[in-house]
Amino acid sequence: MDITLQTPLLEFSGVGEVKAKKLEKLGLSKCVDLLKYYPRDYEDRSKLYNLTDAPLGEKVCICATVADRPVYTMLRKGLDLVKVTVINENIRLYLTFFNQYYVAQSLHLGQDYIFYGVVDLSNSRFTMTNPIFEPVHKTSFTGCIIPKYALTAGITNHFLCSLVRHALPCAKDLPETLPRQVRLDHQLAQIEFACRNIHFPESFEAMELARRRLSFEELFFLSAGLTMLKGRRTETSGYPLSPQPMEEFLSLLPFPPTDAQLRVMEEILQDVTSKKSMNRLVQGDVGSGKTVVAAFAAWLACKSGFQAALMVPTEVLAEQHFQSLSNLLSTTGIRLGLLTGSLTPANKKKLQTALANGEIDFVIGTHALISPKVSFQRLALIVADEQHRFGVAQRATLAGKASNTEPLSPHVLVMSATPIPRTLALIVYGDLDISVIDQLPPGRTPISTYVVGEDKRVRMYGFIRKQVQEGRQVYIICPSVEEQEPSSAPFAQSASVERKAVTTFSTTLQTEWFPDLRISYLHGKMKPKEKEQIMHSFAMGEIDVLVSTTVVEVGVDVPNASLIIIENAECFGLSQLHQLRGRVGRGQYASYCILMTSTRNSDTMTRLKILAGSTDGFHISEEDLKLRGPGDFFGQRQHGLPQMALADLTGDMRLLRQAQDAARSLLSTDPSLSQPDNLPVLQGVRRLFADTPDIFN
Ligand code: ADP
Ligand code: MG
Repeated sequence: MDITLQTPLLEFSGVGEVKAKKLEKLGLSKCVDLLKYYPRDYEDRSKLYNLTDAPLGEKVCICATVADRPVYTMLRKGLDLVKVTVINENIRLYLTFFNQYYVAQSLHLGQDYIFYGVVDLSNSRFTMTNPIFEPVHKTSFTGCIIPKYALTAGITNHFLCSLVRHALPCAKDLPETLPRQVRLDHQLAQIEFACRNIHFPESFEAMELARRRLSFEELFFLSAGLTMLKGRRTETSGYPLSPQPMEEFLSLLPFPPTDAQLRVMEEILQDVTSKKSMNRLVQGDVGSGKTVVAAFAAWLACKSGFQAALMVPTEVLAEQHFQSLSNLLSTTGIRLGLLTGSLTPANKKKLQTALANGEIDFVIGTHALISPKVSFQRLALIVADEQHRFGVAQRATLAGKASNTEPLSPHVLVMSATPIPRTLALIVYGDLDISVIDQLPPGRTPISTYVVGEDKRVRMYGFIRKQVQEGRQVYIICPSVEEQEPSSAPFAQSASVERKAVTTFSTTLQTEWFPDLRISYLHGKMKPKEKEQIMHSFAMGEIDVLVSTTVVEVGVDVPNASLIIIENAECFGLSQLHQLRGRVGRGQYASYCILMTSTRNSDTMTRLKILAGSTDGFHISEEDLKLRGPGDFFGQRQHGLPQMALADLTGDMRLLRQAQDAARSLLSTDPSLSQPDNLPVLQGVRRLFADTPDIFN
């Protein structure tokens, strides 16, 4: 039967109804799907070893001649074995096959085979157990590089390999998706070559060429899509806010702004007083003073007679922002509101009405703000704080809340303390302009960070006492709420390591170590009211030691806190630790961060030492990126971008740049990709963004 790109897999030999269903789970229903189902990894079976130079304990291919007749033994019911001796370069290799009686028939005396398995040396004999083998003149799974695919129950890698092999001749019919000039400019392989060599590479060099071409393609489509999005935005106009004298705002501040804050405020002023709508990302390390910048933007909007909204990821943070901004803006006549999920239905209703009637100028809230029940009278500015917690889609939903009768889109300001390396940010937030607050307010003493083992726990308790005696306050962060709860921390390791839990640990501390200190705890499962009370008392200095989960991670501000202890530090990611550490060192006191860990794992120690050695969030996040690899860095697709099949948004930095340049240059000649030659690109963009229709299409 002739196979075409559109042939259903059901028509492939070896695929029945059952298998077809399972393949569908992997998104595979047609021949072309197989071709686009790229391997996760490869197994190098290309090198043939001699027994004498084969690395022991690793899977290798050995070419050998069958030296005697296979011997079959039945050990007991359900367990039999076949033993056979083969010879490679005059050295014997003793093979054992368990429960593979048919091997006795398929290995023929005097014939040559390639055996693929782990070579062991025991009692000065080379042995191999359950190898894969093929006749030397008829190989397809040995002597070459084998792809490893993502699998599902009932579908083995071997089976998928066979299917892909079967489909591979159709690679010649794949339409070329990259414009010829782009391919030539960036020396990219043709689609057929790329397809063949991403699956069954002739060599690792060929695989690299294939990978480069296919990754480029994805990054190119991504960049093109984001550039089109950005281009479309520049056509929509934003609310023209009236320029206000900046001095008036600055006079509200209890301190002079840093140069970096001033610069970013200038940039914002430029944006919102122009005709275009602002779409700006403000990146600034923890403690760099982003709130002031947000307040400035909101002040501008409200002074111009419009409404502003500030969206934050947690209630605690919303409440704190509400407090501090209410103070800051108290003399301006701007009416503030707080909208969180925990308001009583009646209060929520009241607030919603006030927003819709325009009786509130500036609302601060959690994702409750994007509920369909919330509408505004004249929303002109949206600020999303701690952007890494929100996706592109959520931002867009809030932006969609601007009054329908107005053809204008609200200005959007996104603030993030997750300092993504700048080049990466340009691409991940390709639809945003970027400002960086690269300066901390003066007078901050750097936080001293130490990695400390269990043996020093008692000393650490002594240090807590000393800090409290000096009038300071202490955070203790634990990875979980209750004992034995499976932690969702990304770096949770073996269950054998005891994990400190907030509730029990705070009791232990109170009863066994610090009966005289005021100890409280805080975690995400508590009622919002309770949480607020605790945070409030801590901020008021009524609590000496606060034992908490990472709910304090974002944004809360208690300048008197000078010590943060992080229990089971190995459970957290570097950027998260850095963020947590930013809870201290916010006042004039010398501050400390102690990373407690009982593991001696060298990877963990390397990670923690990076943190101890640097307070520069950008440096730390770059290191984090290197260590954690691409997938983990952003968490569960928090960036809201489409899923890449092959391209690595964090590793292929140069390629990313090239793809972005290529996409921009193509779009500068054909902004809507309407020329027939560019149709494959438009289709590629549509396909890539198909899962995120709210931002594209
Ligand atoms: P971020 O949100 O960037 O982590 P915040 O906006 O919470 O930081 O500011 C951290 C602390 O620094 C707050 O206590 C804030 O009042 C203070 N702060 C902000 N800007 C300045 C400044 N220019 N000078 C002194 N203190 C500042
Ligand atoms: Mg903040």
